[in-house]
Order: sequence, then C-alpha cells, then structure tokens
Amino acid sequence: MEAKTKNSINRRQFFRRSATVVITASAVGAVSPALVKSPEVSAKSLLDDNSSDTMIMLAELKDALKKPIEKRKWAMVIDARKCIDCNACTIACIAQYNLPPGVTYRKVYEIEDGEYPDVQRYFMPTNCMQCEKPPCVEPANKIIPGSMAIRPDGIVTIDYNKMKGKKVFNAAKNACPYDNALYYDEGKNYTDNTPAIQPYEKMKSNEYGKEFRRKETKDSTRKCHFCIDRIENGRLPACVSTCIGRAMYFGDINNTNSLVAKLIKSNPSFVINEGAKTLPSVKFVHDNLDETCLKCHG
Ligand code: SF4
Ligand code: SF4
Repeated sequence: MEAKTKNSINRRQFFRRSATVVITASAVGAVSPALVKSPEVSAKSLLDDNSSDTMIMLAELKDALKKPIEKRKWAMVIDARKCIDCNACTIACIAQYNLPPGVTYRKVYEIEDGEYPDVQRYFMPTNCMQCEKPPCVEPANKIIPGSMAIRPDGIVTIDYNKMKGKKVFNAAKNACPYDNALYYDEGKNYTDNTPAIQPYEKMKSNEYGKEFRRKETKDSTRKCHFCIDRIENGRLPACVSTCIGRAMYFGDINNTNSLVAKLIKSNPSFVINEGAKTLPSVKFVHDNLDETCLKCHG
C-alpha cells in the first residue's frame, strides 16, 4: 500500500477547484434543511435559522467574548469526513489577509491511498495548530525577544515588526513539529514583473489589531492566528464561515456545552502528531483513522 500526498495548487488545478466550488455550492443548497422547509427561502430566513451550526457557533462566540480572556480557550475542530477538497477555506484565508505568493496559512492535503482498483482519496485541511505547549516560541524569542507569544486564550501570536529575517524564522520552523505551519514572507506580489502591480496587491489587511500592507510584512514570519481580529469582533474565522462542506467548527472548548466540546465528546477525535506533546488546539474527527493522515503520521 502506498500513500501519496499532494498539496500544491497550479493554475489548472485552481480553475478545476473553482469549478468544483460552484457545482458543490448548488448541490449543498439542494439538500439544505432550511431550503427543504420552504421553497421561498431567503438569505434572511437562513440567517434566522438559529438551529444552524453557524448560528450556534456565533452565539457561543459572543458568550465566550463576555468572559475574561484567560477563561476562554479557542479550539478548531475539523470534521475530516466532510471535507470535499474545494479549497474555499484556503482561498478565503488568502483573500482575507491579502497573502503574498508563497504564504498560505491553510492547506488542504489530498491523500491518494492504495493500488488500482482498490484506491481511495481523502482530504485533510491543516493550519498552525495553536499548540498549548508550542515549541516554536522559545527558540524564536531567544533570537529576537518578543517575536512570538502565547495569549491566555491559547492563540500563538507573531509580532511582525520584530520577527524579521530568516534566522528567527528558521529557529521557529525547525522547532515546529508540523509541516507548513510557518511561512516566510518574501514580500512578493502576484503581479511582479508585469506592467503594473495591481491595486489589490497594495491593499491593507488587518492582523493583530493593526493594518498592514505587503511591504510592511516583508521578511516577517507568517502563520494562522485563528483570525484573531474577526473573532474579537464576533465573527468566525474566515475558513470556518466559508467552508462549503461544513467541515469546520470553532469555539470555546472551556465551555463544555459548546459545539466544539460536544463534537469532540460524541465522535472519534484525534490530534495530528500527538507524540510531539504540543497539545494542539486544532482537533479532528473521523470514524476511520485509516482515512486520515494518522495512517502515516500517527
Ligand atoms: S503548529 Fe507549529 S507554529 Fe503553530 S503553535 Fe504549534 S509549534 Fe508553533
Ligand atoms: S472549505 Fe471546507 S470542504 Fe472545502 S477544502 Fe476547506 S475544509 Fe474542506
């Protein structure tokens, strides 16, 4: 048995996936319980449907934000059974943060497993695991004090103005037991070497409560931060609110009645690379661990 992983997105794949998004969006709409309820369903009635997971997560987020920061602990739960590899989450993240070429806070791994005719294909979305005991922080801070920090709510942060240069990036990257959690921002643009850098490449984006343009994050280390600015404004992370397969969940795991806590309790759950003992805040659920990356990276 041979397992093969692929995660690069070339131009052809991008368009193929964009087409998948459109087709799948129609398919999901066709089976949505809210749509079955009434043929005259509107966006407003979908939003008024308080039973939807999204509305539950938004209400829970609001409650969590009323607590002191040290009393809440953010967690992401990925139901890998539901991921359809549309990459909408990856694209939402890139758009949210105006990410430059080479920086992707979130990747969806495509795993092909088996030999013809007994083959299967499954998908594993991943990002920085927001580890409770993150081995990246200390080596980074040893090189440049204040580069990285762990917030009381569990988010591992980077100070873009301090964490500059390859030396500090490599120190954190080499200590992190997860592939593709940290990225080095080379300050590139998609429209470099064209007659003009396009306006969208010059736009500001909000991270860590500040506005950044591309040139300001050049040479910084970048990674997922659970959309810190969105959640503090009562919005779900971009990947969670965009997920077409409804595979993504987010909330306060300290609240034992939260959707994320209940999902973990009522489903077979796991974290990637548990042996590294970093206590990741990104958790997965799946019935069959042989159809996850645990098969090779247990
Ligand atoms: S996944 Fe890696 S970069 Fe993210 S907190 Fe854990 S050790 Fe640090
Ligand atoms: S948006 Fe959801 S379904 Fe699509 S690739 Fe991301 S996690 Fe999977």
